[in-house]
Amino acid sequence: MKASEIRELLKLLDQPDIISFAGGIPDPELFPAAEFAKAMSEAMTGPRASQALQYSVSEGYAPLRAWLADHMGGIGVACGVENIFITSGSQQALDYFGKLLLSPGDTAMVGWPTYLGALGAFNACEPRYIPLDPWSNAAPEDLRAEAEAAGGAVKMAYLSADFANPTGETLDAEGRGRLLERAEALGIALIEDGAYQALRYDGDPVPPILATDIARNGGIENSRTIYCGSFSKTLAPGLRVGWVCAATPVIERLVLIKQAADLHSPTLNQIATERVAREIFDDHVAGLRRVYGARRDRMLAALSREMPEGVTWTRPEGGMFVWVTLPAGNDSAQLLERAVREARVAFVPGAAFFPDGSGRNTLRLSFSCADEARIDEGIARLGRLLG
Ligand code: PMP
Repeated sequence: MKASEIRELLKLLDQPDIISFAGGIPDPELFPAAEFAKAMSEAMTGPRASQALQYSVSEGYAPLRAWLADHMGGIGVACGVENIFITSGSQQALDYFGKLLLSPGDTAMVGWPTYLGALGAFNACEPRYIPLDPWSNAAPEDLRAEAEAAGGAVKMAYLSADFANPTGETLDAEGRGRLLERAEALGIALIEDGAYQALRYDGDPVPPILATDIARNGGIENSRTIYCGSFSKTLAPGLRVGWVCAATPVIERLVLIKQAADLHSPTLNQIATERVAREIFDDHVAGLRRVYGARRDRMLAALSREMPEGVTWTRPEGGMFVWVTLPAGNDSAQLLERAVREARVAFVPGAAFFPDGSGRNTLRLSFSCADEARIDEGIARLGRLLG
């Protein structure tokens, strides 16, 4: 099935009788809309309005950068304001990383599967992809020689270490350390996408790779890990506020790219985000964890009840996704067609998340937007279809 056909099917998802586990988006009922209304209105009152409506610096709104430096410190990343760069969502950061690091023919190491939007952003730079596997023993010199034979060099590795999109999986501390060592041996940048980092429902937090990098190499200025974060899953995606945390030479180059692209992210959105984050971030995220955590539990329980023999799935400790593997030979794109038309339930076929289009027997379920009763019903429908 071609992507455009899947898109046609996904258009049907607005119909109320369809239970959709397809969209990886936050539940709009949980947006802190009243707090944003207040913050925006105050930013637009009196002399403050001239700042909110004026051009501003490319690095980002200084108080927001300061809040984020503190926030990164709270998750173990010792950094200063100069190490924070504000982007229009973390998607913009991914686009900039491609521009900064990749030329056509270069090699990017990515998870197999990996976040579709990262592949979309990097594809513009025409890289070649190879699997990023923390447990691989492939010799760096062999990887380098293969990359050269393909007409470029190994330039970056990209991963979401916490509750990845699409698998929901978290890489443990040992795996993170091994990846860092690999990146060091290859002399490449390691991009750590922390889009879901704050949404942990159980288990102990694992320090970001950037934190380990800083501890091993004596400070953020000696680090090779480039961390990108986002307010999209915690506050609201429509405001398009994300950030990068990295060594200052990286930040300086990203600032140049931003100056050429859009000068700066919207000032009003940054001012409002800083205010809302400062006032409610921790309490708000605690509330999200309760709601999404209960939905995750409900989906895992329903899968155990409803899935036939031979179907397996991940058990995420956070985020928004469960990754399902059907017995070999199944095609989840064909299943989607039947699921939508016959069972009125939807998901995303897994092949789209693999750079080589493999993984046809996999699919991604999102539990973020369906209430618990609809999760039970939707998984039961899927089970009947597969059974
Ligand atoms: N990274 C990952 C892993 C994501 O799932 C997403 C959104 N789906 C993004 C980055 C981009 O999010 P945003 O641009 O809204 O920050």
